[in-house]
Formats: sequence, C-alpha cells, structure tokens
Amino acid sequence: MGDHTCRACRGQAGHLVLDLGEQPACDYFPRANDPGPDATYPLQMWLCSSCGLAQLVADSTVPEEPKGTEPVALIAQAGDAVGKVATAGLLPEGGRVTEYGSPHGGSWLGLLADRGLMPTPEGEPADVVLDCFGLMHAPDQHGALLERVNRVTKGGLLLLQYHSLAAIVRRGQWNSLRHGHYAYYSTTALTDLLASHGFSARTAWQFDLYGGTVLLVARRDGNSNSQPDHSVRLLLAEDASIGVRDPRVLTDLTSSARTQARGLYDYLVGERSARRAVIGYGAASRAPALLRWAGVDRALLPAVVDASPAKQGLRLPGTDIPIVGPAHLAASTPASVLLFLADLLPEVRAAFPEVERAGGRWLEVEELGRYASSSLPCGLAY
Ligand SMILES: [Zn+2]
Repeated sequence: MGDHTCRACRGQAGHLVLDLGEQPACDYFPRANDPGPDATYPLQMWLCSSCGLAQLVADSTVPEEPKGTEPVALIAQAGDAVGKVATAGLLPEGGRVTEYGSPHGGSWLGLLADRGLMPTPEGEPADVVLDCFGLMHAPDQHGALLERVNRVTKGGLLLLQYHSLAAIVRRGQWNSLRHGHYAYYSTTALTDLLASHGFSARTAWQFDLYGGTVLLVARRDGNSNSQPDHSVRLLLAEDASIGVRDPRVLTDLTSSARTQARGLYDYLVGERSARRAVIGYGAASRAPALLRWAGVDRALLPAVVDASPAKQGLRLPGTDIPIVGPAHLAASTPASVLLFLADLLPEVRAAFPEVERAGGRWLEVEELGRYASSSLPCGLAY
C-alpha cells in the first residue's frame, strides 16, 4: 500500500492491522450464470496512530446493492433505542429532527415522530441530529462529522449509533471489514473526534445488535462543565482494557479470520464425507470474504438462501455459489443451515420451523471456528 492519510484527522502515521487480500465488491451480485471472474479489490484496515480511528484503506468499488430485507432485530433495536432516549428525557416535544441513515435501510423518523419530533427540511438545523450506521459509509470522515455537528442547534443533541470496535475485537468479528464501510469506531476514537468538533459525549447505551452496538449522545460544549456519565466512562474503560488503539490487538483479528475460515472449511468437508446436506442462509455482504478465505465453492456449499427476491437468481460474488429462495429450505431438507447473519437467528427459526421439524439445525458461521482442525489441509485463499 502507499501512504494512507487518515479519513478523520488527516494524519499519516498508522498501521495496517488487517489485510483480507483481494476481495470482490461485496455489493456486486452477478447473475448466477455469469461465469466471472469478478473484479477484486484490496480489503484492508488501517489504524490511525493520531486519532485512533480504524478505517478502510482504499475502496475502488461502486456500491450496487440489491436492497436487502430489514432484519427484525434491527427494527426491534430501533424501538428499544428510541424508547431509552425518550425515557431519559432527551427528546424535546415539538423539536426538529434530522436523520443520516444507512444506505442499507432502517429509519427512526417514524418512531421519533411518535414521540412528537418533526423532521426538518434537508440542510436545516435540527434539535436532534441522528446518525444510525450512516457515518461509517462516508469516505471523508472529517467532512461527514463536520456536516452533522454543524446542523445541531444550540443546546441540541447529536445521536450516533455504531457497531463498536470493542465488540469487533472482543468477538473476533474480522468479517465486519468490508468495502463501503470506511470507519470502525471505538467509543474512545469517536469521543476524541467529537471533541475536535467542540462536542462532548454525555451518555450512551449498549445493544446486542451485531454483537455490540452503541448509541452515543453528544452535545456541543458550552459554558457548562458537564462530564460524560457513568455509561460513557464504562465504555471508555472497556476500550482501554481491550486495547482498541493498540495495533497489535487489532492485528489479532487475522487469527480470528484464519480460525473461522478453517472451521468452516473443515465443517463442510466433514459434513460432505458424512453425506449430510448443508445449505447457507443470508447472502450477506460479509459472506464472500469468509467463503473465499475458506476456499469454499458450491461443491461444499451448494447454495445460500436469501429472503430478498432481488437477490434470487444471483450468486455470491467471488464464488460460484448461487443464491436461492426460501422454498429451497424445505425442498433440500438440510441437516444444517449455516447462518451468515447471527442477528437473524430468532427470526429464521420462527419463519422456517420446517428446518428443525425435519431434524435440521441452524448454525451461526461465527461459531464454526470450533470445528477447525489443525490436521486437515485448509483451503485458505491467502
Ligand atoms: Zn486519524
């Protein structure tokens, strides 16, 4: 790689902490009969030594994503989060709100309208500026945060929700690194960035979504000398004990990747030998990198089921594995269904009881590391 300039602080000192090699654009799903090869791009994470922001190095891909279905878990968390903010007395009745959402969908505006907030026209100031997984999609992190803080009225609030870097490290979620996601926030780095814009974190809530999601509330520093509350201090203390600013800690994600990929490969080889059918579920953007690291093709995993009609008839990029509709679940009576999105587990178990009725089981791919065997050859692509 050449010199990288931090997307937030413009610093140039930092470390390449995770290198997943050449990967296809995860948002590009070719037709199932498209023989490829699909274009690939480097997929690397860099940790800034100055501001501590973990970030995507380069991204030459163009997002071209078929709209996915919004997981029930995401909708439920939005309701939970808005309820907590309201209960804390942070939503001014009749206040104006604006939202920076994720391109993958999900909006809180309806929930906030139920609490008496009114959407503000584009570009105008708001009493509540909400960013729900939006900021991570901005290549220019400095400019994007500046845009958001500039819209907060005097005395107003900035609400930032993000999948925390502490959770990524704690749970070995190396697979969170993907094209189009430019930043991976620790509460530590984010509070420092907010401070550089004259904002202070005041309170926060944690959620189980994605294995660890944080909603942080920040205000512009005024004359008042208010400090972050216990919830923020706890997150900062957890960051410190994990070492989210230590490049050696983040580099360990590579071993998580190897273990998980090896586990997936070994599991699938074992099931094939035992003549037990396996199918995937959830054509998630994170699936291709895992499958490629594991060297898995359709001979080992014949298909991945996805509920989104827009994805059916396509295949996972960088692999020959087709995406099929949910009817395939009943038809193939799999012994196990590998779930590529852990948050979907309660939802899919309820939606497809036929899997377990026929003796099959749901398995989260993140859990497959335990099947890794050091004695078997591994199909790692790198
Ligand atoms: Zn930086």
